[in-house]
Amino acid sequence: MPLGFGYNKAMTLEWIDADWLLSPGQPPQQEGAVGVDKTSGRIVGTQARSERTEYKDASGAYFLTPGLINAHTHLELYRPEPISKQSDDSMADWLLNVIEFSRNLTPAERLQNCLKSITEMIRTGTTCVNDITSTGASLEALSQVGMRGIASPEFFYPAHSDNPDVEAIVERFWTFKKRFAGHPLLAVGISPHSPYNVTPQAWSKVLSQIQPEVVHSHLAETQEEMAWFQQGCSVLDKVHETVLGRNFGPIKSGVTPLKGIAALLSSRHIMAHGVFLSDEDVKILVQSQVSLVHCPRSNLLLSGKTITAFKQWHQMGLVIGIGTDSRLSCPSLDLREEGRVARQQHHLSAKETFELMTQGSAQAIHQENNLGAIAPDFKADLVLWWSPETDIENPYETWLSPETQPIMVWINGRIVLERCL
Ligand SMILES: [Zn+2]
Repeated sequence: MPLGFGYNKAMTLEWIDADWLLSPGQPPQQEGAVGVDKTSGRIVGTQARSERTEYKDASGAYFLTPGLINAHTHLELYRPEPISKQSDDSMADWLLNVIEFSRNLTPAERLQNCLKSITEMIRTGTTCVNDITSTGASLEALSQVGMRGIASPEFFYPAHSDNPDVEAIVERFWTFKKRFAGHPLLAVGISPHSPYNVTPQAWSKVLSQIQPEVVHSHLAETQEEMAWFQQGCSVLDKVHETVLGRNFGPIKSGVTPLKGIAALLSSRHIMAHGVFLSDEDVKILVQSQVSLVHCPRSNLLLSGKTITAFKQWHQMGLVIGIGTDSRLSCPSLDLREEGRVARQQHHLSAKETFELMTQGSAQAIHQENNLGAIAPDFKADLVLWWSPETDIENPYETWLSPETQPIMVWINGRIVLERCL
């Protein structure tokens, strides 16, 4: 009979019990316990389950996993339903709607949106985000809730009048960096939005003056972006006039978006989407140690297409994580829903899907030595899941099932969700 799970809140060292411990790179462990040092917020180790704990409920099965990592988000852009894109709408039309939505947000609405995004994520087992922020609101919200995250202030260049020059972008980065220096959960990156609206010169000039945790951008996301680079056509003119205040042509045409910035890449870079990457582009990413964040549902909404060579790129050595993107292009921020779509698209096993959401995303955000596994000295970001099933053949399959739900979530050893069954 399953013993359920138990924990002791009073002690500095807390042992969290479960029927199954699931961690990438290790076989599933039955009847295990994970020790958490609540002072350091780190995992001490694992052991066989103790019989001394107080058990909450004996029915069903309990799984303890590392917290899920959503490697591409925009917490500030929250909407009950995505902004729809009809098949005859261009990407430029869709982006103009996003820009209008974002520009109309008051600071209070922006913060509220971040809190809604964070709440939805924690309730579905995500403990860490790699976010892009316009105003820094996501850093404030993450700090208020106590969720882990890297947030990267976004910039466009040539810039619109609210954001007039490279110096202003650099100064804004340092303001956030100083404000959250030494924060146990937060780090600050930078986000040149994409090669189609930041010149390589501005990209390089900004990076030469700051030390970001990551450089987080969008790449090869839509056919329009590819056409703009390869033929230098005017398909993105409306977007550029709105965002940048003037028309803007590719510095070099006839190349892929990645080739235009290849000389600037470093291992701190993280690229979201990559639907239209060529194999040659993928080789450049691998050589430069740049990771890719796959956003299956957002890609389908925006491009009507998804990555087709997922397994092949993985075998070529590309580090791939998973993200939802924002609620403007994705119907939910539930990472397991995203994972189930990725699984279907790429014929992944339940175990591979689990690894993508934990270790894969940790690698993609360059945190593989801290996050995404249950291992000594890793951050104690953990999720306890409950399944009504008792007869479990494949624990990964049961864990991925929509019937399985998070009931407790820890971030840095602190409980942030405790739900009654
Ligand atoms: Zn995005």
